[in-house]
Amino acid sequence: DPRIHGIRTKIRVVPDFPQPGIMFQDITTLLLDPKAFKDTIDLFVERYKGKNISVVAGIEARGFIFGPPIALAIGAKFIPLRKPRKLPGEVISEKYILEYGSDCLEMHVGAVKPHERALVVDDLIATGGTLCAAMNLLERAGAEVIECACVIELPVLKGRERLNDKPLFVLVEYQ
Ligand code: IMP
Repeated sequence: DPRIHGIRTKIRVVPDFPQPGIMFQDITTLLLDPKAFKDTIDLFVERYKGKNISVVAGIEARGFIFGPPIALAIGAKFIPLRKPRKLPGEVISEKYILEYGSDCLEMHVGAVKPHERALVVDDLIATGGTLCAAMNLLERAGAEVIECACVIELPVLKGRERLNDKPLFVLVEYQ
């Protein structure tokens, strides 16, 4: 799809952020280009509309940028999966391991009903730990995760292998 090239060129790579040795993929430059931003959303919407998906779950923070426009366009609800102690209601939590230390995602109890068909959205998959935790939250609540969708994949980190054969759809691979 010719739109992919345009999207790729708008993602800025920032060396040594947030620490030395990391090549940070910065999607804020993609958001500055209305055509590339719209193409990004459209590509996801074209893939997921008509698939009977009733839930789009976005991962804090950049999943909150891409998830809601997809949800609105396919007629699904949006669920924010947040970092600890941000959600005011009763939550379920899922801890996951990072390269250094651990983190946690939380979801409101009752946000999803059993057997709902869900899509998980984030900007980027690196090791896959974050998406794995997000899927666990939805599945613990009884939802069926249909697919995970990210703008960017870092294939060298083999995050796909942590998703237990769940399909992952990405627009851009960064080698
Ligand atoms: P993972 O859990 O190792 O797959 O890391 C993915 C999470 O870290 C996502 O929520 C991303 O937003 C974030 N992340 C990791 N590396 C980058 C990057 O280069 N750019 C933007 N976000 C990143």
